Amino acid sequence: MTNESMMLAALPATWFDGRSSRRHAVQVLIEAQTLVMRPLDGSLAVQSYALADLRLGEAWPDCPRPLDMPDGGRLWLGATTAAALALKVPQRAPGLAHRLSASWAGALACLVCLLALLVWFDRHGAGQAAQGVLGWMPRSVDQKVGELVEAKLDQFGFVTSTLPMERQRRLSARFAEAAAQAAPGVAVKLEFLRESKKAAGFNAFALPHGGIVVFDGLAQSLSDDELMAVLGHELGHVVHRHGMQNVLRSFGLFSVAGVVLSDFSNVAATMAATVQGMRYGREAEREADAYARRFIAQQGLPPQTLAAVWLKFKAEERRLGAGEIPGWLSTHPGLDERLATEQAGPR
Ligand SMILES: [Zn+2]
Repeated sequence: MTNESMMLAALPATWFDGRSSRRHAVQVLIEAQTLVMRPLDGSLAVQSYALADLRLGEAWPDCPRPLDMPDGGRLWLGATTAAALALKVPQRAPGLAHRLSASWAGALACLVCLLALLVWFDRHGAGQAAQGVLGWMPRSVDQKVGELVEAKLDQFGFVTSTLPMERQRRLSARFAEAAAQAAPGVAVKLEFLRESKKAAGFNAFALPHGGIVVFDGLAQSLSDDELMAVLGHELGHVVHRHGMQNVLRSFGLFSVAGVVLSDFSNVAATMAATVQGMRYGREAEREADAYARRFIAQQGLPPQTLAAVWLKFKAEERRLGAGEIPGWLSTHPGLDERLATEQAGPR
């Protein structure tokens, strides 16, 4: 008895009365089967509770431990006080989180659930969030992000096109007219570049503000009509704002807002890297293909133009071999599926 009285003499704790958020510094001690709580500020009366009516909460490493009182109040105890009271006071049944973390199987199950949640958010949650945000994001944001990315493109080793100026002008004028008809109000601008490292580049990509980059390698391999089909596909990405969806998904709303509101050049530079190497999802590619099909029909081009484009991509794929596959080819759906879709005829 003497031992216990010494051990539990006037231990410090923090008390909340359960009705207000005000904290009170108190001292607690045990006398026989009673806990006596003495407020240190003198504004409250000394209170006593039968030990059997108290419930000691779960212990977590480096956290104060709660002690629930029958009147709704709660004491928060430091490690020493809690260890002393644990010998005397009934303990609350451990909660689910505590039971799970106490066994390796439970901890593993929690880890698996957490990973599954992260994967789900990455696949669906972030995408759905991006879709939702895009709905109220004005087009002027696409414009700003596109301009910033365009200004950073020279970092990627792209050089001036060697395509004859006459063809560049002809294609630009034809596409501007076609785009004005297909997507009135959407500003587009063609930019011809040459990829210095990769055999002039067999590729094209769209920026969120309607800037569409076409590489010499692709332009030299395709006829004007075939190039219009590719441009129709890229216009589809612009109209459906697939690039902005990707940017939102990768960087989040606050990064995009930061780039738009001020000049966070680091984010803009990383964004440029992401946008120019953009990989769209399967659905986005199907949507852009469907857009290209309507675009081709509107321009009075033969319906098999897109199939002819895919055949040339396939030839390029064979020529380059694995590992050197340009952006268009490494996206889903695969080329064979796209070719089969076009060859199946109009839907
Ligand atoms: Zn695409």
